[in-house]
Amino acid sequence: MTAVLARPRVSDLTGETPLPVTRRAAPSTRARAVGWTALHALLAVAPLALCLTAVRPGRGFLVDLSVALGFLALSVLGLQFALAARFTRATAPFGIDAVLRYHRQISALAVLAAFGHPALLFLADDRYLVLLDVVDAPLRAQFAWLSVLALALLVVTSVWRRALRIPYQVWHVLHSVLGVTIVLAGLVHAFLVDNWMSAPWVRLGWTVYAAAFLWLAVWVRLVRPLRLWRRPWRVVELWPEPGGAVTVGLEPAHRHGGRPWSFTAGQFAWILPGRVPFTPTYHPFSISSSALRPRVEFTIKQVGDFTRSIRRLRVGDTVYVDGPHGSFTLDRHPGMGYVLVATGVGVTPFLSMLATLADQGDRRPVWLFLGNRSEDQITGIRQLERLRGRLDLTVVHVISRPSGEWPGERGRIDAALLARHLPPHARSLQYFVCSREETVQAVRSALAELRVPADRVHSEQFGMV
Ligand SMILES: Cc1cc2nc3c(=O)[nH]c(=O)nc-3n(C[C@H](O)[C@H](O)[C@H](O)COP(=O)(O)OP(=O)(O)OC[C@H]3O[C@@H](n4cnc5c(N)ncnc54)[C@H](O)[C@@H]3O)c2cc1C
Repeated sequence: MTAVLARPRVSDLTGETPLPVTRRAAPSTRARAVGWTALHALLAVAPLALCLTAVRPGRGFLVDLSVALGFLALSVLGLQFALAARFTRATAPFGIDAVLRYHRQISALAVLAAFGHPALLFLADDRYLVLLDVVDAPLRAQFAWLSVLALALLVVTSVWRRALRIPYQVWHVLHSVLGVTIVLAGLVHAFLVDNWMSAPWVRLGWTVYAAAFLWLAVWVRLVRPLRLWRRPWRVVELWPEPGGAVTVGLEPAHRHGGRPWSFTAGQFAWILPGRVPFTPTYHPFSISSSALRPRVEFTIKQVGDFTRSIRRLRVGDTVYVDGPHGSFTLDRHPGMGYVLVATGVGVTPFLSMLATLADQGDRRPVWLFLGNRSEDQITGIRQLERLRGRLDLTVVHVISRPSGEWPGERGRIDAALLARHLPPHARSLQYFVCSREETVQAVRSALAELRVPADRVHSEQFGMV
C-alpha cells in the first residue's frame, strides 16, 4: 500500500484517449431492474384500468380526471409501503440511493395528483365546494380531508425537517404514522364515495390493494422483527476509532437455520441493539469488515442519540442485524481498477471492500481518496494500516484543517486534486463515492469535469433525509 503524502505528478485525464473496454453489470441485474419497475408501474396504474370498466358517461372530463388522479395517488402512495418493507430482492438491482430518489420523486408526483383530485372537482362544479366545510361535510369528505391534511403535514416535515429542527427519530415515527393515516383515510374515503367502487371489480381490486397494504405494514412492524428475534448476534469486541467513531465486532449467536450469513463488501445492515428487535426506528450502517470472515464489524460515528448509545454496548450484549441490504458493491461494476472517494466515516464500505480484495489476493490497482478534517481524526486508519503490502493500493489523505506539519494534500477533493493522483487511463476505472449528499454531488461534478463517464460513477449517501 502506498500512502500518498507529497504531491505527485499531474495526469492529463481529459485527453481523448479511447476508453478500454470493461465488462458492464451483469444483464440479469438490468433485466431484474426492468422487471421490478414494470411490475411497480403496473400495480400503480392497475386501479385506473379497473375504473375504465365502470366509467359512467355524463359526469364530465374534469370529474373523471379528478377521480383518476385520486385513485392514482392512492395506489402510488400505498405502494410506498413496499419500499419501506425493504425487500432485498426488489431493491437490490437499483441500490439504496436510487430507491430513495425514486421514493421522493414518485411521492412528489403522487402528492400533486392527490391535491389535484379535489382541486379539479371544485373546478368542475360549484356544487362540490360545500365539501370545504369540513365539520358539516359528509363522512366520506371528512376522511378525504384527513388524508389530504396528513399528506400536507408529511410533505412539510419531510422537505423542511432540518429547518424545522425535527430530530430524525421523531421524524421517522411521524413519517410512518402519517403515511399509514394518508393511505387508510384515502381508502375509507374511496370506499365511502361508492360511485366507482360500486362496480364489483373495482371494489374487489381495491379490497385486494387494501389487504396488501395492511399486510406490508404487519410485515414491517411484526413479522420482520419476529424473524430477527430468532437470529440474535453477540458483541465480541469494541474499540474506539479516531474521528469519534467506535468499531463493534459481532458474531452470530444463532445457527442461521443451516445457512451462513453472507454479504457482499459495500453492503449495509440495519442494526438494533437490545434484547428485542422491536423499535420504531432502524439505523443503517455499512459493514466495515471483510466479506470473507465470519465476524462482522460496523464502524459507527457518534453524531446523535442512537449512535452515542453505541458507546454503552458491552462485550456479550445482544444486537440484531437486519440485512444485508444495498448494492453499492464492486462486483456489480467490474473494472480493471477502482477509485474510492470518501469523507469521514464514509470510508466504512471501502474498508470492507479493501479487506475483501486483500483476502481474495486481488492485485488490481485501487486509489482511495479520503477526506478528513484533521490528520489525527482519520476513521479506519488502523484497518488501512493492516492492509499494507496486501493490495496495490494508493491512499491519498486530504485534510481540510491540517496542522502546520502536514505534508500531504489539503483542502477539498476536487478535479485538480483527483487529476494529480490518477493515472492517464483514469476514465476507464470504476468510481465509488461515499459521503454526505453535498460531497457526493461535488465529487460527481469533479469527475464529470475529468470526463469520467457518469455510468462509471457509483455513490452512496449516509443521510436519508
Ligand atoms: C446506507 C447507509 C449506510 C451508513 N453507514 C454508516 C456507517 O458505516 N457508519 C456510520 O457512522 N454511519 C453510517 N450511516 C449513517 C447513520 O445511519 C446515521 O449517522 C445514524 O443513523 C444517525 O443516527 P443518530 O440518532 O445517532 O443521529 P441523528 O442526529 O438522529 O441523525 C443524524 C443524521 O443521520 C441521518 N439518520 C439518522 N437516523 C437515520 C436512519 N434511521 N436512517 C437513515 N439515516 C438516518 C439523518 O440524515 C440525520 O440527520 C449510514 C447511513 C446510510 C443511509
